[in-house]
Amino acid sequence: MTPCVLKFGGSSVATPERIRAVAELIKRRAEVCHPVVVVSAMGKTTDELLNLAYSVSKNPPPRELDMLLTVGERISMALLSMALHDLGLKAVSFTGSQVGIITENRFNRARVLEIKLYRITDALKEGKIPVVAGFQGVSVSKEITTLGRGGSDLTAVALAISLGKVPCEIYTDVPGVFALDPRKFPAARRYERMDYTVLSEMASSGAKVMHSRAVNLAAKYDLPFLILSSYEPEKGGTLVEKREHLESPGVKAITTMPVVMFDVEGREGIPLLARMVEAVRVLNFSHDATGRHLVLFVPVEERERALETLSELGVRFALREDLAMVCVIGWGVSAPEIMDTIFSVVGWEHIFMMGSSDTKVCIAVEREREGVVVENLARKFGLYGTA
Ligand code: ASP
Ligand code: MG
Repeated sequence: MTPCVLKFGGSSVATPERIRAVAELIKRRAEVCHPVVVVSAMGKTTDELLNLAYSVSKNPPPRELDMLLTVGERISMALLSMALHDLGLKAVSFTGSQVGIITENRFNRARVLEIKLYRITDALKEGKIPVVAGFQGVSVSKEITTLGRGGSDLTAVALAISLGKVPCEIYTDVPGVFALDPRKFPAARRYERMDYTVLSEMASSGAKVMHSRAVNLAAKYDLPFLILSSYEPEKGGTLVEKREHLESPGVKAITTMPVVMFDVEGREGIPLLARMVEAVRVLNFSHDATGRHLVLFVPVEERERALETLSELGVRFALREDLAMVCVIGWGVSAPEIMDTIFSVVGWEHIFMMGSSDTKVCIAVEREREGVVVENLARKFGLYGTA
């Protein structure tokens, strides 16, 4: 039987009941392919481990942080294997390092260099179901590393590619990719099929459905994958693949994310920008023509790091914490008609920043207006109802 990679996110394995339900699901899939399972840590485990680290130390060494965080996935891989055994399946759990997920020498956000598949090939030959801990590997200098938050998606995609581009199913808590966050907008349109590029833009602009690095890796190797719900897999999901040539121009999705705006005074803006971009994930920046201000937007999660970096640089700045970034994503979205629609729906006076490319137009608006802005744009661009 051909292998298939099945990845289960934290919400899918959040409780013992969920773990047993996932084991049942794997058993059903095992009738049609040979599962290679990838799991995330249960529910909020990774956040709890991080809090624990910061309650012990203000500045935990990156190596020790990775040692701690990899524990989350070890818990779920062992428990899921036990649940599979209960159903009469031969499952065997492995850490990232045991299966030879080799990463660069860097803690907390290591890139995967190679997958040796060590124990996986043997397990498959023996008819066993390998259950692999996501989000982790071992560096070229034999240190335990993590791949960055949400990195289990990356483990799954990388494994599916290494196994010879086998089918890859990403199980989450929503049945596929929607034009708007279905948790906030239940009437959002769902896609049966979607292009890598659109999903990658969505993922890097706040959509929680999948990690953007994982989408980019799949695109690079052209590995189509399915996103579906572990709660209701029978509903089907979204097939993500290369379909650029099939897509007509237009808006496909809207994402939102809370941001912080930094307004930096002075003429040193540009050299300072280089330091900021290195230390922090900067979403957008602009420098006014007279050169007296540099305005930067960063996701709220980067707030502390941005504050630290700016104070190390010793510059004066003001910040606004009540903004959200709304991104309109699709094909050819910087076309004048689409821009005009965005301006007329949102209103110039409510737009704090705007940035655009051919596949994404982002604006910053007051967070309290975010819901209305998304509603109105979604209606204008026909993002409700089924696709
Ligand atoms: N458990 C890790 C995290 O919460 C990795 C993952 O869920 O993909 O970031
Ligand atoms: Mg996740």
